[in-house]
Amino acid sequence: MNGTTIHPARSTTFRLLTIAASGIGSFMLGLWGLKFGFGGHIAGLPADVLGAVLAALCALSAALAAMSFFAGVDESATYVYQETQIDKLTGLHARTAMVGKIAEAASATIRSGEPMFLIDIDIDRFKQINDSIGYSQGDQLIRAFAKRLRELLPEQTEMGRIGAGEFSVLVPDTAELGPVDRLVEGLIEELMKPYQLPSHLQSVNIAVGIVAMPKDGLDPVILLRRSNLALQHARAAGIGNWSVFHQEMGLVAEYRQWIESELHTAFLRGDFEVHYQPQLDLVSGRTVGYEALVRWRHPERGMIPPQEFVQIAEETGMIGVIGNWVLQKACKDATLLPPDCFVAVNISPVQFMNKDFLDRVRETIRDSGIKPERLELEVTETAMMQDRGRAAHILNELAAMGISVAVDDFGTGYSNLSYLIDFSFKKLKIDQSFVRRLETDANSGAVVSTIVGLSRALGVHTIAEGVETENQATLLRAAGCDVVQGYLFGKPGPIVVRADQVQPVYKAAVN
Ligand code: C2E
Ligand code: CA
Ligand code: CA
Repeated sequence: MNGTTIHPARSTTFRLLTIAASGIGSFMLGLWGLKFGFGGHIAGLPADVLGAVLAALCALSAALAAMSFFAGVDESATYVYQETQIDKLTGLHARTAMVGKIAEAASATIRSGEPMFLIDIDIDRFKQINDSIGYSQGDQLIRAFAKRLRELLPEQTEMGRIGAGEFSVLVPDTAELGPVDRLVEGLIEELMKPYQLPSHLQSVNIAVGIVAMPKDGLDPVILLRRSNLALQHARAAGIGNWSVFHQEMGLVAEYRQWIESELHTAFLRGDFEVHYQPQLDLVSGRTVGYEALVRWRHPERGMIPPQEFVQIAEETGMIGVIGNWVLQKACKDATLLPPDCFVAVNISPVQFMNKDFLDRVRETIRDSGIKPERLELEVTETAMMQDRGRAAHILNELAAMGISVAVDDFGTGYSNLSYLIDFSFKKLKIDQSFVRRLETDANSGAVVSTIVGLSRALGVHTIAEGVETENQATLLRAAGCDVVQGYLFGKPGPIVVRADQVQPVYKAAVN
């Protein structure tokens, strides 16, 4: 059977013709068989009467067979069509169908000369949302999102669901819809309004990527990849952003791929190092601890900053190996640092949620021989929010072991602060974005004071990161912040063991 015979829209005439043809065919065959096989009379009936009866029966059964065959084909064709072309959850085009629609739109733009835009809309961290609210409510969220999207655009707009929380829309460059940037900004504003689910009001953040046809290409697969590249770019720029594709984005993607393929070799080759940045008590000025920060020294490309590889390592799972190595190295290095100082190690959400995480920490402490009090773990809100029950358990276990935890990048998440009450941790680490704006933006000052107040109410300490100026340090002291870290006090650098000193010293080095 070729592809066209299963098309559901095949005409009735065609079907009747086929049925009739199979009937006539059987009749001829019956007659031919009778003439040659049985000769004159059979069972007292003349051969032509019997032939006619048999032929009619043959024709009937053939027609029935043909009909049931076509009914079956219809059913499976509809089934295949629905499975592959329509997204069951939303009724929008499924990815394959959307690829077809993009191809059609691409040829239309060449014929008419009128440009079209392909818009990629993605819900941030949809997988995590789905895991935390449950699949059933996750489905409801997707349905509500799709419904809103449909209502925001003209009825005939082609749109599809092309990933779990990813949607694709084709819009013409017409005066009716207005300039694409205004259209997209309107979409973002509306789509980011909270969604009422059975158990709660769900907020979502989205990122949007745009490609123009025919300018940015005509191949639907390439266009989809490019709209997604633009989307990644928008996401990197922050919440609720949009970007239009440009050629350099392709280079960024290539670089990403290179990092991904190089990480494993780099680890085996021993490219990674740990640098330390001091953390000082704001009142006494004493160094109380050092944050361990991973460094990748590539033999040809030189230093590659963590922002360029940590996220990729998280996505590929390599962060497990690298993070564990950093933990071991930092605990071993702690034996070279002054005994009253701790080391603070960054723990990625992927590591934190790993089922072996607590065992790894226990083993590392034991092997290094340091007191557990000398280890601090910096964990982000995101890591804790993925599974609050499990996170609370891990934090309790760590506290029982005597290991302290600092909530890293505090203030940048958009979670409900009530979680703080359930969790045992020792410090809130005020994100450097607030510190940076302290001198210029009164709101940042208010945020810092509020965080200090909150931490006091919770009975925990505060540390501010990214302190670069005396002014910032003064403002932080006035706000009541306990500990500070930043270029003003020392940049991250390697531990230097000097032969002439019994006590190894920490030497600040340029990053
Ligand atoms: P983070 O945990 O927020 O670390 C603080 C970052 O701020 C570090 O960047 C540090 O070098 C930088 N910094 C410190 N003081 C100043 C300052 O005064 N001004 C400015 N502008 N920056 C300052 P770095 O080392 O590039 O690390 C970036 C991020 O990479 C870290 O952010 C952390 O999220 C991640 N990271 C670094 N090492 C590790 C690691 O071992 N494991 C994991 N999972 N993540 C790591
Ligand atoms: Ca940190
Ligand atoms: Ca930070």
